Amino acid sequence: MNYDSILVRYGEIALKGKNRYRFEDRLLQNIRNVLRDLPQIKVTKTFGRIYVELHGASHDVVIERLKNVFGLVSFSPVKRTDLDVEDIKRTSLELLQQVKPFPKTFKVETKRPYKLFPLSSPELTYEVGAYILRNTENLTVNVHQPDTVVNIEIREEGVFIYSQTIPGVGGMPGGSSGKALVLLSGGIDSPVASWYAMKRGLQLEGIHFHTYPVTSEESIQKVIDLVKVLSNYTGQFRLHLVPFLEIQKEIKKYSQESYNITIMRRMFLRIAEQFAKRQHALALVTGESLGQVASQTLESMYTINHVVRIPILRPLITMDKLDIIEVARKIGTYEASVRPFEDCCSLFVPKNPTTKPLVTRAEFIEQKMEVDKLINDAIQRTRTIMITPQDDVKAKDVIFTDMQEFMK
Ligand code: ATP
Ligand code: MG
Repeated sequence: MNYDSILVRYGEIALKGKNRYRFEDRLLQNIRNVLRDLPQIKVTKTFGRIYVELHGASHDVVIERLKNVFGLVSFSPVKRTDLDVEDIKRTSLELLQQVKPFPKTFKVETKRPYKLFPLSSPELTYEVGAYILRNTENLTVNVHQPDTVVNIEIREEGVFIYSQTIPGVGGMPGGSSGKALVLLSGGIDSPVASWYAMKRGLQLEGIHFHTYPVTSEESIQKVIDLVKVLSNYTGQFRLHLVPFLEIQKEIKKYSQESYNITIMRRMFLRIAEQFAKRQHALALVTGESLGQVASQTLESMYTINHVVRIPILRPLITMDKLDIIEVARKIGTYEASVRPFEDCCSLFVPKNPTTKPLVTRAEFIEQKMEVDKLINDAIQRTRTIMITPQDDVKAKDVIFTDMQEFMK
């Protein structure tokens, strides 16, 4: 079937009173962003509804994209006909036959803003209902709780009919809750945490700490590819790649082994807080989940968190690993996440990491390091790139040039 447009419904934001228009405009913009490569498409807002006019684009492609847009509750592919009763009847039947699974009960609902149409709403409802019943089997009318509703809207410019409703992802329009910076590792958890944060309307930038060339180019490529998947949800995603090798060497030199990870994470957070300030982000996001590993005990989080004032959001904090994996599969990040390349932490994990690190001991170790200088150097040498669903970014193009400059 050739649909003419997609009717888009949105929910929660309708409750936002005065802010409603701002939210709607953002939603419109976000829809346009994910359809940017289909120039024939027009996205319009009329009477609190959003229509995506297809002008020949495939409705399947558009619907797949819309499933990624946060803030959308559901959408319906719409067929347009002339103001002609026979045409309306035929199209209504065709639409109903597309519904899967095929319904047992239905009803017709007619709206008639165009009052010059010759039939009244009840008359047209009756005509179309009778026609559908005559041309189907095992289908009955149920006006109170139908499986499917055939909606008909009679307007001066034409008739709009739809019967299928496809659920959207829900949440809040991307960017409507402000900006945060996500610490992205390349593992399974942080991309899932990013997705949840974006779903509640946060605009994200990513920060990744790498230890190239001790760790491979592929381990950075993995993060770039993960961000590319995440950019499907927003149209684009900025990523900061921070060289962390020098800091790691210093930690090795001065820390006791069981505190390696504690000090490393404290350095992550200090640097991330600086970037957040610079990029006007008001929170950090991590993929931590309580008790998952030694650095994610409450004692560890306390001691690591101690070095920053910026709020840290942990969307996965109470989730079990298996549930996180399920979401990772659903949102499309799982495959890249399980590629085997080591990241900086996996090469650095002590045999016996402490599960109860103390603030005083961490501070004692850091006194021996030039913390501020190390942080400034890493920030100076950070590479920032913009990632979109369309472009392929290669890690070697980003990192090698940086290393050449550094080796001089
Ligand atoms: P993930 O699956 O996200 O890697 P994890 O279970 O491996 O998480 P950790 O390695 O303890 O857990 O990391 C906890 C969190 O710290 C990550 O979810 C991520 O937010 C952040 N993080 C870890 N390593 C890095 C890194 N190299 N760069 C940026 N952030 C990191
Ligand atoms: Mg990890």
